[in-house]
Amino acid sequence: MRAACVIGWPVEHSRSPLIHNYWLKAYGIDGEYRHELVPREEFAAFVGSLAARGYVGANVTLPHKEAVLTLSQPDERARAVGAANTLWLENGALRSTNTDVEGFLDNLDACAPNWHCDLGKAVVIGAGGAARAVIYGLLGRGVPRIVVVNRTADRAAALRASFGGRMENAPWNDRNETLGDAGLLVNTTTLGMQGQPALELEVARLPTRAVVADLVYVPSVTPLMAAAKARGLRTADGLGMLLHQAVRGFALWFGRKPTVTSELRTLVEADLAKA
Ligand code: NAP
Repeated sequence: MRAACVIGWPVEHSRSPLIHNYWLKAYGIDGEYRHELVPREEFAAFVGSLAARGYVGANVTLPHKEAVLTLSQPDERARAVGAANTLWLENGALRSTNTDVEGFLDNLDACAPNWHCDLGKAVVIGAGGAARAVIYGLLGRGVPRIVVVNRTADRAAALRASFGGRMENAPWNDRNETLGDAGLLVNTTTLGMQGQPALELEVARLPTRAVVADLVYVPSVTPLMAAAKARGLRTADGLGMLLHQAVRGFALWFGRKPTVTSELRTLVEADLAKA
């Protein structure tokens, strides 16, 4: 039996076991996916003994996503993003990658095909870890201009410094002025999350061709998603990204590329609604 896990502190909130155990059952694979509650001070030893514990790989969540880079062999995208969320053993070596990048892009492709054609400019709200994955993905898909708007201007400036020439910054208070010619708007902040204020944004300013993506997945329909849908814009939500980012890990650990189905989405949505 092959086994994988999600390592975090806390970790009980993670829906990764629900997702991976659904696929294991759906494909009749003899495997198991578990939670592993591991504090910072025990993380290096835990990761170092992954194989001895019977694991073929793992997901890594807060607060370990950055620390794992020095404990594994990260690929180019994990290094560029500055964080990894997926580990696997390859010929005895512990490799790592960041699947938020493809999770974001694959969900966008599924929800809004051809979103990148005639895009012009993308506006990314937020400059944390998730923003780095989104920006890396957008640059890789050839987006010509990316405007990053963040409450703390220094963090947006740091993203511009690390990702280079196609990046611009705009002040937080001017965020509505950036929307008029944006083909894509992405919320990577925690605003709109359950218990947090909504992201205040004048969605009416976006062009009718614009696509709106939100990384927040609790609730599954955020105020931003609701406003974009009410305007008839195409949308890509955080739950879709969460499901798509899980695909690569499953394929690496269990040898089969799984499909993100509406049945899986309904299952996870129902579980999140209980929270
Ligand atoms: P993070 O590194 O802590 O960054 C948080 C971001 O939110 C920063 O830009 C921060 O701005 C901004 N922010 C927080 N409170 C704010 C407020 N009151 N007003 C304005 N801006 C505020 O977090 P992260 O890891 O990037 O995650 C961000 C979100 O993405 C979370 O909701 C997370 O669940 C979601 N996410 C979803 C997926 C998925 O698969 N759907 C994957 C990854 C992340 P400052 O810099 O000014 O503090």
